Amino acid sequence: MRYSNRHLRVLTLAWFVFLLAGISARAQAPRYDLILKGGHVLDPANQVDAEMDVAISGGKIAAIEKDIPAADAGKVVDVRGLTVTPGLVDIHVHVSNGGAPLDWFEPSAVAHTPPFGVPADLFLTWGVTTAVDAGSSGADTFLGLKQSVIDHSKVRVMAFLNIVADGMNGGLEQVVDQMNVERCAATIQQYQPYIVGVKTAHYWTEKPWDEFHPPWAAVDRAVECGRRAHVPVMVDFWPRPPERSYDELILSKLRPGDIHTHVFAQQFPILLENGKLNPILLEARQRGVIFDVGHGGGSFWFRNAVPAVEQGFLPDSISTDAHLESIIGRAVTMINVMSKFLAMGVPLEEVVRRSTVNPAREINRPDLGTLSVGAPADIAVLDVLHGNFSYMDDGFARMNGNVELLDRMTIVGGRIVYDPSGLSMVEWRKAPKQYFTPPKHGADPPSRADKYPRQ
Ligand SMILES: [Zn+2]
Repeated sequence: MRYSNRHLRVLTLAWFVFLLAGISARAQAPRYDLILKGGHVLDPANQVDAEMDVAISGGKIAAIEKDIPAADAGKVVDVRGLTVTPGLVDIHVHVSNGGAPLDWFEPSAVAHTPPFGVPADLFLTWGVTTAVDAGSSGADTFLGLKQSVIDHSKVRVMAFLNIVADGMNGGLEQVVDQMNVERCAATIQQYQPYIVGVKTAHYWTEKPWDEFHPPWAAVDRAVECGRRAHVPVMVDFWPRPPERSYDELILSKLRPGDIHTHVFAQQFPILLENGKLNPILLEARQRGVIFDVGHGGGSFWFRNAVPAVEQGFLPDSISTDAHLESIIGRAVTMINVMSKFLAMGVPLEEVVRRSTVNPAREINRPDLGTLSVGAPADIAVLDVLHGNFSYMDDGFARMNGNVELLDRMTIVGGRIVYDPSGLSMVEWRKAPKQYFTPPKHGADPPSRADKYPRQ
């Protein structure tokens, strides 16, 4: 077919109209997807502690400035009176079928162990946007964790790999042959970036030593795997001096960057008999050993934590050791554990530092736990409540205090994934027509008040 002049004129006109429409659409497209307006931004990684607006674009932090114009965003959320922090990073959790059964020391544990891990996306309700499973799985079982949890979660899930190939939940934690350094290191290399370190736990805590159970087998092999794979080791430990002492663990066995979790558990000599802080803690810290909370259902005692904090010894990172028993029986959540440290008098900035940038660096992910421009837009919007509150520890003792954190909103990669107070939503009477329109078939059209991505 040949075009006549008239055809060409019409086509040219159509082309110009199309071009102009494109230009004006671009001109009208907002500069940012979302602005959180008027909150108190607390970002220890960047020394920000001030009232600021946070702008998000393409899933990343685009700007942190005072008074970003509301007209620049597709959506604006008023967060005045609330504290805006990087999404919390909890480096000791158990998800899905992982986790420590109550009878974890017994080879027969698997026979009567219900799933002990927490559904991963539950962490989003605590402001946690990165959760690290601490050794629920090993070389033989990691793929199951990846396929059943990591690949499907909204929360970012990573893992410390158990030095025991079978992991934590199959009753093989006492079998030294399971602690295969080569397979551990090869699995970590195969599944980067999901595996961030090695975990050892629960090894030979009661029974007499024998030829099949050398005192340091689990720690030595975990550290050797960490050395080969160039990742840190997280240690859950039970001192049994003189053969296996806490001093030797933190002053000799652990390398700089290795992590002692459960630091305020009942079994550690945090205080000397005169009540003073045990100087080995500072000596180990000087060496670069990291101390992590790992509260859990049996690893946090006020009698250790409060005097240590009063004497200036703060853990490097705050973590929950969340599993089904600790979140129900002990009500342990990330914001609950953080609240306990606030109640001990630790400033909010230091609590947030130990729940964001510090743990992110411990797992070699400095891009997380920060609101740096260009970083993934992982954000928690916290309410710092003041009143009469109290808190429990794992020895079933209470501490009174006057502050508690509540998570009001959680954002992962720029998506609002948790907003129970509807801070980002329109008051229902003012919702657009589509909200009031019953769908004809299925969910089409969806009866929603806006289109901001929330899934
Ligand atoms: Zn644990």
